[in-house]
Amino acid sequence: MASQRIPLVAGNWKMNFDHLEATYFVQQLAWKLRDIHFDYRHCEIALMPSFTSLRSVQVLVESDNLKVRYGAQAVSVTSQGAFTGDVSADMIAHLGCSYVIVGHSERRKYHPEDDANIVDQVRAVLAAGMQPILCVGESYEERRKGIELDFAVGQVHDVTRDLSDEEASRLIVAYEPVWAIGTGMVATPQSAQDAAKAIRDDLSATFGIHVGEAVRILYGGSVSSKNAEELIGEPDVDGFLIGGAALNVDELTRICQLTMNATV
Ligand code: PEP
Repeated sequence: MASQRIPLVAGNWKMNFDHLEATYFVQQLAWKLRDIHFDYRHCEIALMPSFTSLRSVQVLVESDNLKVRYGAQAVSVTSQGAFTGDVSADMIAHLGCSYVIVGHSERRKYHPEDDANIVDQVRAVLAAGMQPILCVGESYEERRKGIELDFAVGQVHDVTRDLSDEEASRLIVAYEPVWAIGTGMVATPQSAQDAAKAIRDDLSATFGIHVGEAVRILYGGSVSSKNAEELIGEPDVDGFLIGGAALNVDELTRICQLTMNATV
């Protein structure tokens, strides 16, 4: 991380924590960050609870004036109507959310989410005034064939190419090799850097350098306090999307601290 971009540490809680556990965690995290004099001007923190916890997290954050941000893990492509079980971008935005994860590999695998649907999700999130965290990354098979960079760049390109420059500049991309998610196998700092740089170069070529330089590119895949410092040391890695380690408040606090230290 060696740029003007403010790093982002985003915790994807997936289907963990009910609303009581979620609010307890946020409170604990805020205390622990206060104890280490965490400076939110140098590192943003966001948590992605389940839909059922968003309102409780909002009430806590607003009433205690916490600086932790939050967002949703999924969104509907439609704005309202007969779509049982879906949640619209406006509903999410009205809960004070800043971010929505779009195209996570688990959503691509377990739900009918293809690139066309993901484009519509990105547009819905942007139109509601939030930032999409667009997840991309190769499977083990693509890496074995040596096409991982083309694959990840192609995923970003296909989803973003029809956006305006202004819309593209509000994107956040999470490079998450699928083989690294939840496996304990982490990409090397160099391969995380290579992917982030290739994605940034493609965004610059499509939308101009000002957009390529503005977009934050996160790494995700078995991030922990043991590997975060090295990863955030790479110039094009602007933070993390974290699954397992974001369920442990001490571990998450440590990763936030390491990320902040890399910028000051
Ligand atoms: C994720 O699910 O986005 C993720 C990166 O998970 P983990 O940190 O557990 O690998």
